[in-house]
Amino acid sequence: MSRISFTSATLPARKRIALVAHDHCKEFLLDWSVRQRERLAKHQLLATGTTGLLLGQRLQLPVECMISGPLGGDQQLGARIAERRVDMLVFFWDPFEPQPHDPDIKALLRVAAVWNIPVACNESSADYMLASTLLEQQHDYRIPDYQTYLAGRG
Ligand code: PGA
Repeated sequence: MSRISFTSATLPARKRIALVAHDHCKEFLLDWSVRQRERLAKHQLLATGTTGLLLGQRLQLPVECMISGPLGGDQQLGARIAERRVDMLVFFWDPFEPQPHDPDIKALLRVAAVWNIPVACNESSADYMLASTLLEQQHDYRIPDYQTYLAGRG
């Protein structure tokens, strides 16, 4: 495959933050989100099905819910990232339990790496991410240059 070239894009000041937690990690994510409620409330939240349901109840904030992760929700979030409709990912995946939808989890993390969005996979990194001065400002970042990619394939 030809080497990917890159171009610049702008992340909006109001971020679209995707949140996912595996079952044994859901309480960690919920506790974290309560601590970070004030910051999260300034942004647009979306999540896999069960995570989103619980977050909406706990935070009393609107959360756009995908299908539940094992039923395809991780893939829906991955598609949104590829469409550049998600700006950040908080993904508390379970390091102790195998998941039936492991390929979907890998795919979600991979596409987040491809599209260069910030990803936090545990509470500490999620705290750092939300404490960033970039969180509430518009800023430029690097993404794959799809037009150049296509031109090179034709
Ligand atoms: P859930 O999915 O939020 O529907 O539990 C999370 C996951 O397992 O990917």
